[in-house]
Amino acid sequence: MATRDAAELLGDPAITTVYAAEKRVHLDPTIVDYVNIRWVDEWCKRCNICVEICPKDSLLLTHDAIIEATDCIRCGLCERYCPDLAIEVLPKRDEAASTGRA
Ligand code: SF4
Ligand code: SF4
Repeated sequence: MATRDAAELLGDPAITTVYAAEKRVHLDPTIVDYVNIRWVDEWCKRCNICVEICPKDSLLLTHDAIIEATDCIRCGLCERYCPDLAIEVLPKRDEAASTGRA
């Protein structure tokens, strides 16, 4: 009876293809800190909800990024309504210093 070696029985070794999108998951997101707002580029899907919900028109979606303009009253609505946790209100600078959170 003919014998078969392991390679013949098992076939070619499996090849795992890592696609570019999977590689990107492991990269640190791009965090942008403005005066009152923190925005995370990769988590944001540019839905414009934060821009529309802001009572002071403080946010702009321009050049493919969310920008904090003026007059933010730190009400937190943008953070609460963002579906992707891509925007948050930063602690006030004196609070950040006392809590150690930057
Ligand atoms: S915290 Fe309130 S005022 Fe400030 S950007 Fe968000 S929604 Fe606008
Ligand atoms: S609500 Fe969130 S996901 Fe939508 S544009 Fe604003 S930051 Fe981006």
